[in-house]
Amino acid sequence: MIRLEDYAPIVGSATIDELTNLAHRLQGKVIQNINSTSVGGGVAEILTRMIPLLKQIGVDARWDVIKGNEKFFAVTKKFHNALHGVPVDVTDEEYEWFLQVNRENAEEMNFGDIVFVHDPQPIGLVEKREALGRNWVWRCHIDSSGPDKKVWKFLDKFIRKYDAAIFSAPAFAAKLPIRQILISPSIDPLADKNRPLPEAEVRKVFTQFGIDMSRPVVTQISRFDYLKDPLGVIKAYKMAKKYVDMQLVLAGGGATDDPEGPIIMEQVKEEADKDKDIFVLFLPPSSDLEINALQRGSTIVLQKSLREGFGLTVAEALWKAKPVIAGAVGGIPLQINHKHSGILTHSVEGTAHWIKQLINDPEYAKKLGINGREHIKNNYLITRHIKDYLLLFVSLFHGEDVVHLS
Ligand code: UDP
Repeated sequence: MIRLEDYAPIVGSATIDELTNLAHRLQGKVIQNINSTSVGGGVAEILTRMIPLLKQIGVDARWDVIKGNEKFFAVTKKFHNALHGVPVDVTDEEYEWFLQVNRENAEEMNFGDIVFVHDPQPIGLVEKREALGRNWVWRCHIDSSGPDKKVWKFLDKFIRKYDAAIFSAPAFAAKLPIRQILISPSIDPLADKNRPLPEAEVRKVFTQFGIDMSRPVVTQISRFDYLKDPLGVIKAYKMAKKYVDMQLVLAGGGATDDPEGPIIMEQVKEEADKDKDIFVLFLPPSSDLEINALQRGSTIVLQKSLREGFGLTVAEALWKAKPVIAGAVGGIPLQINHKHSGILTHSVEGTAHWIKQLINDPEYAKKLGINGREHIKNNYLITRHIKDYLLLFVSLFHGEDVVHLS
């Protein structure tokens, strides 16, 4: 089992002491996280890593997943896309269904002292607040800076019932009558997905998938989602391939709350079918070591998102000192300072251009990766994230108005 002290060599022992001290102030309080999937996507990834660490320092942190059927997740995926600014059409019946499923879940749930609701899927649980009291926090992991107006209007009725809303980046803040707090997500440097791997293990994974490590490898690891633009990645690869030799890896699995995955994966496969240098890999849950190896062994990591919440995959690759080329959207510009700690792009052409440049200039690519790792170390590791959350929780019980985050 990983212990909090194991992080001391990376972040310093003062940080660990600080977390333990803050945790003492939450004794006897139940911090209940609620989201909509236990596997797949960034939210599940963070909760999987964070809950055991919080428990270890004495915080009674819990994690519940709301139940929903296909119809419910089809509606909530529309909400997800709508918050990202994609125009969607939600019918009155779909809004009703969303509410009904939230109410059914609310009836079955035991609520904690802090009800920490992640993303829109369980947002309606807050209807229980009037009867129960407690502290309610809505944690938005999506770039909600330009949402579809109708969907936002519907969600806004719930958001304003919360005590506070947390966003991942300053640009996502909204006009709201409640406290808004900026807390960026994080990666766990000791998780199987990120821990150092021996070269032989990396090679084993590449061999297993039939990828040739003696040639350049460009990789994107993501759920198969339009907003991650896997088809745009293939276009950029094809453009760059006219000038440089390389292989392309598109690897990802699904999330139980994302019904669009299989359809998009089929489209990607169709597009890739004719090219033996494109590897479309389906990754089942618990592919952490494979993801780690694929990121480590790649020449370049892409995250060509069209919209993004934070983009944990960017932090994961930068932590491995990889040169990353990523869309300048959502939380990605927080992680990449263009031409210093990675490359930000706005188009297929730009992505193709930079793939070619970085493959041709490995020294420059290496420098970007080294700077990227330093930036992630200083800002986006799990210990900083836990500290931000603990400060917020403590402040909720003490009724303070301002949370000072480091
Ligand atoms: N991920 C995974 N398996 C996959 C695809 C992604 O474990 O098949 C992980 C990825 O490594 C990262 C998280 O899921 O930790 C995705 O988070 P991100 O913020 O990049 O995107 P989201 O899926 O939340 O939109």
